[in-house]
Amino acid sequence: MAVMGCIADDFTGATDLAGLLARSGASVNLRIGIPEAPAGKTADFEVIALKSRTAPVGEAVSETLRALDWLKSSGADRFFWKYCSTFDSTPEGNIGPVSEALMSALGVAQTIYCPAFPENGRAIFMGNLFVGEEPLAESPMKDHPLTPMRDSNLMRLLTPQVTGEVGLANRLVVERGAAALKERLSALLADGVPHVIVDAVSDSDLAVIAEACADMGLITGGSAVAMPLPNVFRAKRLLAGGESAPIMKPVSGGSLVLSGSCSATTRAQVGTYLKQASGYRLDPLVLAEAGPEGALNWLAEQPSDAPKIVYATAEPDAVRAAQDKLGRARAGEVVEQALAACAVAARSSGISRIVVAGGESSGAVTQALGVDSLSVGAEIAPGVPWCFAHSEGREIALALKSGNFGSEDFFAGALSMLETS
Ligand code: ADP
Repeated sequence: MAVMGCIADDFTGATDLAGLLARSGASVNLRIGIPEAPAGKTADFEVIALKSRTAPVGEAVSETLRALDWLKSSGADRFFWKYCSTFDSTPEGNIGPVSEALMSALGVAQTIYCPAFPENGRAIFMGNLFVGEEPLAESPMKDHPLTPMRDSNLMRLLTPQVTGEVGLANRLVVERGAAALKERLSALLADGVPHVIVDAVSDSDLAVIAEACADMGLITGGSAVAMPLPNVFRAKRLLAGGESAPIMKPVSGGSLVLSGSCSATTRAQVGTYLKQASGYRLDPLVLAEAGPEGALNWLAEQPSDAPKIVYATAEPDAVRAAQDKLGRARAGEVVEQALAACAVAARSSGISRIVVAGGESSGAVTQALGVDSLSVGAEIAPGVPWCFAHSEGREIALALKSGNFGSEDFFAGALSMLETS
C-alpha cells in the first residue's frame, strides 16, 4: 500500500519529485499519465505525472481529480500536489484551482504552498519567491515562453487563482519549529484561511515544515518540501525499511540530447554541449511550413555513437519573434512535435540514452515513445534523476530535465554518468 499519492503538473516535475523521494531509499513508482489499470503492486510513493501545467483550467482540474481517484485506489490517504519551484502559473491557474479541487474532493479545510527548493536556489522569504539572489519577477522566469512570471509575491500570485483567502506562515514562525508552525496554521484556519504560503530558505526549514504538515491530507509545493517526508513517515511508523541506494543500470547504445527549453540555464547548457557535439537547430517558422523532415534527415546522417543535440532553445527575442508570427501555442506545438519525432526516429535507429531539456518538451517526448511507467534511479543533478523505461520492447534510459535545473555541463555529465555506472 502506498503511504502517499503524489500528482505533478508536468513530467520533469514528477521525475524531480520522484528522484528526491527515492534518495531516502523509499520505493518510488513514476507513472506517466493516469494508469488505465487499477493499482496493483504499489510502491511506498506513487507519483503520477500529468501534463497539466499550461492546460485549460477545467482540463487540469478534471485530470488531477482522476489521478486522485487512482491514487486513492493505491491505498494512499495522504496526498501531495507538486508544481514548479518557480510557481509557474497565470492569474487563471492552474495551481490555485487544482488545489481547491483537491481540497474539496478530500474534504481538507487547509493546505500549504511551499515551492522552495534551497538546493536549487529557490527560497521563500516573507511570502516572496527568490531565484538565487533575485526576486522571481527579476529572474529569467519573467521571459518564460508559456508562463512569464511578472510578480515575486506568492500571496499576490495565488490570490486571483483561488476563491478562499491566502495567508502566510513566515520564516520567523518556521524558525521556531514544528509546534510553532502547527500553531500558526491552526490560528489561520480559525480565521478562515484555507491557503497558506509557508516560507522556507533552507533544508532545515523544509524539515520543520514536513514534520508539522505530515498529517495534512494534502500538501502542495515544489519537490523539495516532500524530500524529508519519507523519514518523517518512518518516525511515525507509517513507512518500513531503511536507507538503500537508488537503482542505476548501465544502458549502452547511442545517445541524443533534445532541448525545447528556452530557460537561461538551458541556453548555457546547450551552448556548452555544442562545443563537443554536433547540433541541429529547430526553427519554429520552418517547422510550421515544412515539418520536421530537415531535422530527421540530419539525425539519420549522424553516427549513432557520436554526441548530438537537436534544439529549439533560443534567446527571448527569437522566441518572441516566432510567437508573434505563429502564436504562442502553435510555436510551442511545432517544436514539441519535432522533438517527439526525433525521439521516435532515434529509438528506431537503436539510440537508447535520451536526455530531454524542458518540462513540456519531456512530456511530448515520453508520450511519443509510448513510455507510461519509469523506475527512478540516481540523480544527475538535484531534482533530475536518470529513469529507466521500456519503449517498443527495448530498455531505454531517459533524463527529463526541467529547464532551470543542472549545471552548465549537464548534458555531457548526464551521459557519462550512465557510461560509468
Ligand atoms: P521549460 O522546462 O524551460 O519550461 P518547456 O519545454 O516546458 O521548457 O517549455 C518551453 C516551451 O517553449 C515549449 O512549449 C517549447 O515547444 C517552446 N519553444 C521552444 N523553443 C521555442 C522557440 N524557439 N520559439 C518558440 N517557442 C519555443
